[in-house]
Amino acid sequence: MAKAEEFKMKLRLLMFELCNRNCAGCCNKDWDLSSLPIIDSYEGYSEIYLTGGEPMLRQKWVISTICKIRKETSAKVIMYSAKCDEYLAFLAVLSLLDGVTLTLHEQRDVGPYISLQNILLLHPQANKSLRLNVFQGVNLDGVNTQGWKVKENMVWIKNCPLPEGEVLMRL
Ligand code: SF4
Repeated sequence: MAKAEEFKMKLRLLMFELCNRNCAGCCNKDWDLSSLPIIDSYEGYSEIYLTGGEPMLRQKWVISTICKIRKETSAKVIMYSAKCDEYLAFLAVLSLLDGVTLTLHEQRDVGPYISLQNILLLHPQANKSLRLNVFQGVNLDGVNTQGWKVKENMVWIKNCPLPEGEVLMRL
């Protein structure tokens, strides 16, 4: 028999729109962000995905959001990011999360990922969900991905449909 937890919704939470990139297929260009409902409670979700913009551009904001969520719910909290070049800050934020999904959009993103991975290999993150989304055209040949669940050959999806079972809200 299915557990009740399986029927809980997942929350995709847009914390802010600031980003240092201008990706051609960014979902934030497709969605009317100003019309998104504003979150008033974190209760009732099985998982909460923190997105932006780029979360790692406002680390204090992310940390305070995680703390608020932790006070209200035991839901898993996962951050979506494409910026891991500030390794110590990234690891500090990761220590408060249940996991992270790191996206490599371009080949130039591989270098910072390798540096982060070298640290993670020395300090493995037990019980963290580490997912690596790799866009088509990014070459990871010979790159160590131990501990990461890798999804390769990603492409932009037109109009960015929200996955089934997810709701999208903003702070
Ligand atoms: S990094 Fe993410 S939020 Fe920023 S422009 Fe690209 S897809 Fe959009």
